[in-house]
Formats: sequence, structure tokens, C-alpha cells
Amino acid sequence: MLEWHLARRGITDALVLGAMGSVPREEFVRAELRGQAYADHPLPIGDGQTISQPYIVALMAQAARVDAGSRVLEIGTGSGYAAAVLAAIAGEVWSIERMPRLAARAGDLLARLGYTNAHVRLADGTLGLAEHAPYDAIIVSAAGPAVPEALREQLAPTGRLVLPLEDVSGWQTLVVVHRGDPASTGTAAGEWEHESLGGVRFVPLIGEQGWDSEKNLWSPF
Ligand code: SAH
Repeated sequence: MLEWHLARRGITDALVLGAMGSVPREEFVRAELRGQAYADHPLPIGDGQTISQPYIVALMAQAARVDAGSRVLEIGTGSGYAAAVLAAIAGEVWSIERMPRLAARAGDLLARLGYTNAHVRLADGTLGLAEHAPYDAIIVSAAGPAVPEALREQLAPTGRLVLPLEDVSGWQTLVVVHRGDPASTGTAAGEWEHESLGGVRFVPLIGEQGWDSEKNLWSPF
């Protein structure tokens, strides 16, 4: 998986490759799907949700520049797989899930596998998690219509927010949001910059600063 799906597609960050190699992805997929655990596509995890494709998890961690000292916030715990990858790299990871069953299952699994620095919360992640802010990296694993203001506010000055945004036609783009560095970009300090990483497909981000209903609920299964 590392060689075929990641290194050849531009994942070069050694910390990310190391974490992708260390997390047992089969633990995060249902027993009957274990044979596909290392194939590079999303898989169903129940409640109409999916575990992210390995390449996308790696791409988001790399784009967010997560390192050993990072305090990370993830929105959309799902199976807990991305949270485990982030916890294998970072100092502390808080991951928020809005569906009680998924939050409970992921929390138990992360504890059982020994990811003691990964903390799962049941809440609306579009509001972030103010009590542990600021975060060096915020990774959103579900697609909303705009950047939630709360997440910008909870990002450290040099932090990076990586999230899929969906336009009116339903097209999703993975975006990195960060404050400009006046020295290298010529922009004023604190001005927001957006970089696109290309087209993606995520389930909807539902919450106060996301979609307001389960409209568009997407499931390929
Ligand atoms: N990163 C996950 C994939 C998650 S799929 C993994 O590796 O398995 C996206 C998840 O986001 C779903 O579980 C969905 O319930 C959750 N979600 C959607 N909107 C949310 C919100 N506002 N707050 C928290 N979780 C949300």
C-alpha cells in the first residue's frame, strides 16, 4: 500500500509514511471487508458513513504538516482510522463525531489499540472544540459548503486547516487554509490563503456551520 498508493502519488513526508505503515487498517473495517482493508478506496462503516481512502488520509496529514509536536483537531471520526494515523504522528489528537454509535465504537477501538493521545468527543464538529484550542492542524473528514468560522478561530497562527468544500453543483475540492507568511508571500500578516489539492468525494458535513440537514446524503453502497 505504501509504495503503490502513497509514495507514487506524491506522499513524501516520512512521518506520514511511517504512520500509514504502522496503523492496522484492518482493525477499522468490518470483519467481512478485511480482505479489502489495504485497497485504496473508501469502505462502509455503518450509519451510511465510510472510512476514508488511505491516500486521502495521507494527503490531508501531509498537507496539514502534522509533526510530533502538533496538537490536532479532526472533525468526523467515523471509524477512527484517520484519528489513529494522526495520533501515530502527533502529540495530541481530538476527534469529533456527531453519530453516537460511531463515536463510541471508535473511542473504544483507539483505546484498545493503545492510541492514548487520541480523544474522541461526541459533538457537532463544525463548532470545533474551543476548550483545547488553538490547534496546529485541523482536518475535516466531511464536506461542507464553506469554511466553518469556528475552525478558523481555533487555528494557531501558523496552523493549517485541511477540508473538502462542496460547491453548488456538488463538486468537492480539497482545500488547505492558512494565514499568509508576509515574508514569503508578500501578503499582509494574518491574511487567509487557500490552496486547492484537487477533486475529492466525502460524505456531508452536517451541523451548525455545515449543511443543515441530511440532504445530499451520499452513499455508494
Ligand atoms: N475519518 C474517518 C472517515 C469519516 S466519514 C475515518 O477514517 O474513518 C465522515 C464522518 O463525519 C462521518 O462519521 C460523519 O458522521 C461525521 N460527521 C459529519 N458531520 C459532522 C459534524 N458536524 N461533526 C462531527 N462529525 C461529523
